[in-house]
Amino acid sequence: MLPMMKPLAVLLILSCAVVVPAQTNSSPTGGAPLTYSPIPMLDKSLMDLKADPCVDFYQFACGNWSKLHPIQSDSPYSDQFYNLDQYNRQVLHTILEKAAVNDSSRDANAQKIGDYYASCMDESAVEKKGLGALQPELDRIDKLTAKDQLPELVAHYQLINVNAFLGYGSQQDFKDATREIAAVSQGGLGLPEKDYYFRSGAKDEEIRKQYVQHVTNVLKLLGSGEAQAAKDAAAIMKLETALAKVSLDITSQRDPHNVYHMMPLKQLQALTPSFAWDKLYSATGSPTFTEINVAEPEFFGGMNKVVADTDLATIKAYLRWQLVSSITGTVLPKALDEEKFDFYGRKLAGTPERKVRWKRCVGRTDAVLPEALGKVYVEEQFPAAAKAKAVQMIKDIEAAMDADIGALDWMSTETKARAKEKLHLVANKVGYPDTWRDYSKLEVVRGDAFGNDLRATEFESRRQLAKIGNPVDRNEWFTSTPTVNAFYNPSMNDINFPSGVLQHAFFDATQGDALNYGHIGLFMGHEITHGFDDEGRQFDGHGNLNDWWTKADSDSFTEKAQCIVDEYAQFSVGDTKLNGKLTLGENTADNGGARLALAAFLTRAAQDGTNLKRASVDGYTPEQEFFLGFAQDWCSQWRPELERLVATTDPHSPDRFRANGVLVNMPEFGKAFGCKAGQPMVKAKVCRVW
Ligand SMILES: [Zn+2]
Repeated sequence: MLPMMKPLAVLLILSCAVVVPAQTNSSPTGGAPLTYSPIPMLDKSLMDLKADPCVDFYQFACGNWSKLHPIQSDSPYSDQFYNLDQYNRQVLHTILEKAAVNDSSRDANAQKIGDYYASCMDESAVEKKGLGALQPELDRIDKLTAKDQLPELVAHYQLINVNAFLGYGSQQDFKDATREIAAVSQGGLGLPEKDYYFRSGAKDEEIRKQYVQHVTNVLKLLGSGEAQAAKDAAAIMKLETALAKVSLDITSQRDPHNVYHMMPLKQLQALTPSFAWDKLYSATGSPTFTEINVAEPEFFGGMNKVVADTDLATIKAYLRWQLVSSITGTVLPKALDEEKFDFYGRKLAGTPERKVRWKRCVGRTDAVLPEALGKVYVEEQFPAAAKAKAVQMIKDIEAAMDADIGALDWMSTETKARAKEKLHLVANKVGYPDTWRDYSKLEVVRGDAFGNDLRATEFESRRQLAKIGNPVDRNEWFTSTPTVNAFYNPSMNDINFPSGVLQHAFFDATQGDALNYGHIGLFMGHEITHGFDDEGRQFDGHGNLNDWWTKADSDSFTEKAQCIVDEYAQFSVGDTKLNGKLTLGENTADNGGARLALAAFLTRAAQDGTNLKRASVDGYTPEQEFFLGFAQDWCSQWRPELERLVATTDPHSPDRFRANGVLVNMPEFGKAFGCKAGQPMVKAKVCRVW
């Protein structure tokens, strides 16, 4: 439903992978053999020893990545996150193959994940049903005879997660973090972002042309004749362009004030006189309420006009298009599935081939039954000792942040006290939730892939909507436990480290501290720093949007941050320059995170009496190992299409800059590798916020 229901900020990254031709372990349903193996925390084979670490440290640490870990045909990139994610998928695959065996000894949990997965894997059953599975949904659209019937249909679309016009759901109140409120936000675009509809240049013109062709192809596959499909696709493009025009751009969306407009229901109704909101609310079955957050008021005024200016036949074609676009490809007939991949996978992200079916079905089971599948994953993959070590590391890094705040020369005593108060209120979610979600009311029927997917989607939407008006559950998890990612949530003021990312390559409780603090310690520092980046700093320790800064300190922060904006705006990929403002929060977190992780490591090393001068068996001192671990987090290779997509839409900088862009700001790095003033990795004037 609502994109905003995701924690407001800040997934740590994208993702990882090794293609070591290792064990072969065929599965009962003929899944691919296991080909992804753990990567060592310091992998010397990845390093380009001919490169000078003081000229380009990323090249030095990761120069052989592309050779050793080429991009697979079913992916737009290869990196450490991808590798670990593929490894985790293999683990989940084994779990699901076991659960899919239809016998009476399975518990309720195993029945749900096993039957969901088995139905998804049954490609021939999906194909046999063809468009028949989709027909009841298409019939709903056919029955529309007037635009004033739209709210009920859009309500249904909210429940099954179809992106038509808008998003409606619940949200933690930015200004009262104890409660869940109703919210509506802009939506309805088929291209990744507003600017895709307007940017000039040959590449963008080409993407728009391909997009219209894609919409044409989808409508044809749904039964329209060639001429009608082409005419409808052009009209849909016009409709979406009009919606894009009144949409808020992604950079502006990063300021929480720009997406927070609480208003009485009457006021929203006045913005969109021809859209009967009460019909939408009641058709979703959500609790009643009197106020709502209208994230982008201008959009809704604009949407009213777009609907008024568009004929009903075009709206119906648009609804058919968005329906197919939003439903997962694995439950659709093959021709539609392939057409969707061809545009979004191949043309937009540059991926040559679709993932094999078992990977997609594993991914989808993880997405719709996250805590049913995740529970089994945790039992198998995340021992108590690992959790204890991760928790201890986070505490060390929080202590480093406390000391860092105390030592800042640009912040007043008053703001420092508030910053520390916030820091001490950060909640740490590590590994897995304390209580697991109950799926007993969700029906999973073996052999009904389409129905299972819609029911599971609706189950989750209703769970989200039921929150409206209720207190916030601070123990809720927003990601599945096998997820290879981490995030900070400003409304919760918590950091989240699912067990999926607390694994080899990034974290291994049996390995030395230098590598652990360099790898996962960086992520921990990164997420904690998000609480204090340009966006996170606007929230207080309780998660309320509440300015706790003095004017002078706020000005100093902005000035310090500008140094980072300017630094990253100089970087480019291909002919696309990075957006220093869009990436500011992530770059601040990368820089702060690396400092905190290093400080925490040095404190721990001092406590443990570690000799920082002595080289390990690898030939590197502990500090050098720390920086190598840090840089190897970002070893990657991306397809040019993905680089472009990320440079224009992603708040994270491309990996090379996530390594080198930070290290040039750390004199400790230059010292550890004996770099000299004037060398590229040594900057005369460093940027530093935290
Ligand atoms: Zn981040």
